[in-house]
Amino acid sequence: MNWISDWALPKISGLFKREVPENLWHKCPACEQMIFRRDLEAALHVCPHCGHHMRISALRRLECTLDEGFSRIELPKAPADPLRFRDQRRYSDRLKEAQAKSAMDDAVAVAHGTIGGRRAVVAAMEFAFMGGSMGAGVGEAIVTAAKLAVLQDAPLIVFTASGGARMQEGAISLMQMPRTVIATRLVKEAGLPFIVVLCDPTTGGVTASFAMLGDIHIAEPGAMIGFAGARVIEQTVREKLPEGFQRAEYLLEHGILDMVVKRGEMKATLARLIGLLREPLVLPPPAAEPETPPPAEEAAPAQG
Ligand SMILES: [Zn+2]
Repeated sequence: MNWISDWALPKISGLFKREVPENLWHKCPACEQMIFRRDLEAALHVCPHCGHHMRISALRRLECTLDEGFSRIELPKAPADPLRFRDQRRYSDRLKEAQAKSAMDDAVAVAHGTIGGRRAVVAAMEFAFMGGSMGAGVGEAIVTAAKLAVLQDAPLIVFTASGGARMQEGAISLMQMPRTVIATRLVKEAGLPFIVVLCDPTTGGVTASFAMLGDIHIAEPGAMIGFAGARVIEQTVREKLPEGFQRAEYLLEHGILDMVVKRGEMKATLARLIGLLREPLVLPPPAAEPETPPPAEEAAPAQG
């Protein structure tokens, strides 16, 4: 028995122990630098050292996109666990747990308000809620957001983050693909812009439906966007995939995206886009060119 480790060290560390909140610092998963949590929060969860965009919650997304005073809307309840699905655990238990952890009913939050003073309806997906998977609840939320946009004559902006279909809802989750596609048609038929902001990661059924039907496709830097995972594709095509495959920058280069926008500039970019799409540019009538320059100006000598 060692008296130093068993007796002396606990006493000494007890003397110096202070109340330090454990989550004061956050380690960047990309560059592994430590970031003071308050700084990280202020930087909208973008690493100040390497610019890595970390995932943020749907509610935080609404806060940093919409102007103050926006209102979140209550979404219609979707049938919970229609198939009474169970794997290692009941789906209904998983749902309850996710709901308690995120304070959301399902993986989408919808709000309406203004962005830079211009009206907008924003839907944000929550990846932390069962991987942002799309079941009836998510489908319902997108349809509701689209209807609200039409009702309010406002553009629809959707921030996507999803692992794909919610397998616990089987075919019902697949039915959300055509449903959400129809929802985007509603917005387009009303002549309203539909802007998709693809966040890390956007995959599977969400990529294969409404996420690729925007009038404008924006992505956050480094976001993984694709249908199937890179490993599955590599095994299928038996070829080495190019560097940066399925990342936002690669997709921008190959014409899938219109823009890659940093989180800190997202709100201003959206406000500008809505302005351009909603308010036709009114150019001042061309000024008639004077045939002879007014002599008064020429004659005016520079004073001083
Ligand atoms: Zn970093």
